[in-house]
Amino acid sequence: MAYTATIEEENKEITRRYKDLLKGTYQMLTTADKKVIRKAFDLAVEAHSSQRRKTGEPYIFHPIAVAKIVAYEIGLGVTSIVSALLHDVVEDTDYTLEDIEREFGETVGRIVNGLTKISRLNKEQDASIQAENFRKMLLTLNDDVRVILIKIADRLHNMQTMDAMPPHKQLKIASETLYIYAPLAHRLGLYNIKTELEDLGLKYTEPEVFKDIQGKIKESKEEQDKYIKTFSSVIENTLNKEGFEYTIKGRSKSIYSIRRKMRVQNVTYDEIYDKFAVRIIYKSKLKQEKFDAWKIYSIVTDHFQPNPTRLRDWISQPKSTGYESLHITVMGPDAHWVEVQIRSERMDEIAERGYAAHYKYKNAQEKDSGLDNWLNRLKDSLENPDVNAVDFVENFKLNLYAEEIFVFTPKGDLKAIPKNSSALDFAFSIHTEIGMKCRGAKVNGKLKPISHILKSGDQVEIITANQQKPNVRWLDFVVTARARSRIKSALKEEQKEIANEGKEILARKLRSLKLTFDERTVHELASYLKLKTSFDLFYRIGNGSIENQQLKDFAAQKNNAFFNFFKNRIKRTSNAPTTANAEEITDKFDMLVFGDDEEQLDYKFAKCCNPIPGDKVFGFLTINEGIKVHKKDCPNAVGLQAKYAYRIMKAKWIDSTQQDFRVFLHVSGSDKFGLVNQLTKVISNNMHVNIHSLNISGNQGVFDGKLTISVKNNKQLVRLINNIKKIDGIEKVDRIYKQ
Ligand code: MN
Repeated sequence: MAYTATIEEENKEITRRYKDLLKGTYQMLTTADKKVIRKAFDLAVEAHSSQRRKTGEPYIFHPIAVAKIVAYEIGLGVTSIVSALLHDVVEDTDYTLEDIEREFGETVGRIVNGLTKISRLNKEQDASIQAENFRKMLLTLNDDVRVILIKIADRLHNMQTMDAMPPHKQLKIASETLYIYAPLAHRLGLYNIKTELEDLGLKYTEPEVFKDIQGKIKESKEEQDKYIKTFSSVIENTLNKEGFEYTIKGRSKSIYSIRRKMRVQNVTYDEIYDKFAVRIIYKSKLKQEKFDAWKIYSIVTDHFQPNPTRLRDWISQPKSTGYESLHITVMGPDAHWVEVQIRSERMDEIAERGYAAHYKYKNAQEKDSGLDNWLNRLKDSLENPDVNAVDFVENFKLNLYAEEIFVFTPKGDLKAIPKNSSALDFAFSIHTEIGMKCRGAKVNGKLKPISHILKSGDQVEIITANQQKPNVRWLDFVVTARARSRIKSALKEEQKEIANEGKEILARKLRSLKLTFDERTVHELASYLKLKTSFDLFYRIGNGSIENQQLKDFAAQKNNAFFNFFKNRIKRTSNAPTTANAEEITDKFDMLVFGDDEEQLDYKFAKCCNPIPGDKVFGFLTINEGIKVHKKDCPNAVGLQAKYAYRIMKAKWIDSTQQDFRVFLHVSGSDKFGLVNQLTKVISNNMHVNIHSLNISGNQGVFDGKLTISVKNNKQLVRLINNIKKIDGIEKVDRIYKQ
């Protein structure tokens, strides 16, 4: 529809919208407050006077609308209302930040500054830049969480008024909203806004699906109202008799969450049974709240059979967003499962408005909000510069949507951690040092490995060991962003140490080969060994995966200038991009390992799918030909897995230089004095070999030992075995495949 208002009509409308903004805000406004708001409004009107929105409407409609969302839906006070009115002034008009600060003080200045920075960041396209921006944006949370809250309001209004935009912009803004803003609103407990952002996001990313579901919800509205009436009529009498003041209403699932459910469970609209919930909101005194909730629970379940597996008590243990409610699923009228949400008016307010409402009640309630806690954790992970920005956002979102479980510390304190957290995650959630040294856990009194997945209600005691340190495999069983980023930076540290050692070793070795240790030689050697950086070279020297022979070959070749000339020519001509790419993959994943112990076994590649390094694969135990490796998406895979599940072996590609392998050795010889001592000395003198266990039985002069060690690779193992063989008294060293 074209915009055709006259100037008078327009001015009238601006005044009407402004008055509407001041009516019934969530927070009480004093006369002084209203004066500042008026001043901000006047400045914004003036500053934006020559600007129009895409719809043709005066630009000022936008800041007023954002201020209204801030005041009503989020429930913030005067500072935020003023900042919202001014949020686009510095970015879009001639006014400067200094002007704002002078007129409205430091706090408003800081918030507007934060908002201006974000709006400049958001203009980038690329996903990784986008992610980096998001991280920067979250950093402003440290300054003032109001910046983010106003930004969310800004985004909501832009989404509400996006029809006049060109489709490609709609799609981009909508995707970004689903990617970043909805999760953020969720985390800040702004339930209503999150829902609206998601629905609008769907409207522009999948318009047909959106319209379809929207239509179906409208169709079933009448039926739903009738159902809730029937439901209410059954329990009303008892509730009234008990003297409750309450309202019962139906709460429809959002379009977006219906969509998600349809997709995840692969069902049609009609097959979703919990399209709406019944909500009972009751008046209660703070002290009486919990007791009342259970009293209502008891009344509801007197009339309707509850499903015992579907009870969620968020009152005794609120979610970390501050959400409190008691949820049950009962067999309602028409033999229909329906969720019933029982909550006080206060709880309802927190659920709808989040942050602001929470702070309104905070003094009245001693429980920790969780929000401060969350902001601290967020700050923690933001401050870790080692983590890639895209990883960071993904992790962040993972943690956002992760459902929580609750576990007890040995002292009986309750801690909220994401679902599927392992004992190791829990250790990191207590303290980084405890995570780093974590060796195992006592879960409900029983010893469990660090990979053990925790369940709600578990009591967990972390066992630490001083010699313990993180290894790559740890990344396979942590789910929290905190643990993941801590392990990654520890691994990097370790790599640096090994590389530093390697650098010194290399200098020595080159000297003995009569080569100078300088940048040029290092560079040549690295490219001779097909390594990308000097760091890779130092690291591999340090962990012993480069043989002396390779260095000798390099030295010989370097002394042969003629050969060099040819080599360079060949190199220049054979630089096809496809090979480079394949090389890169093989570089990273150079070894296949099998089973939970990640053993190296003999195998062949299956001809049907010909896996290459890096593919997702599994091993299949054939009768005559040993292990055959198939791709997980091999056409034969489903059949094999269904028919011969017991012959399937887990398999994965790894980067052998990054991994430790457990190896079992059988050592025998004649039992001489000091032999054990020598044996342990040889092993620990070998770089980065760890002994896990050593069992020795001496019997009438015969020495028999079984040891478990960790090595980085086969070369290291061969060298170690040779060194052990040199010990006086050792006769035989065998690698065995069972402990
Ligand atoms: Mn704006």
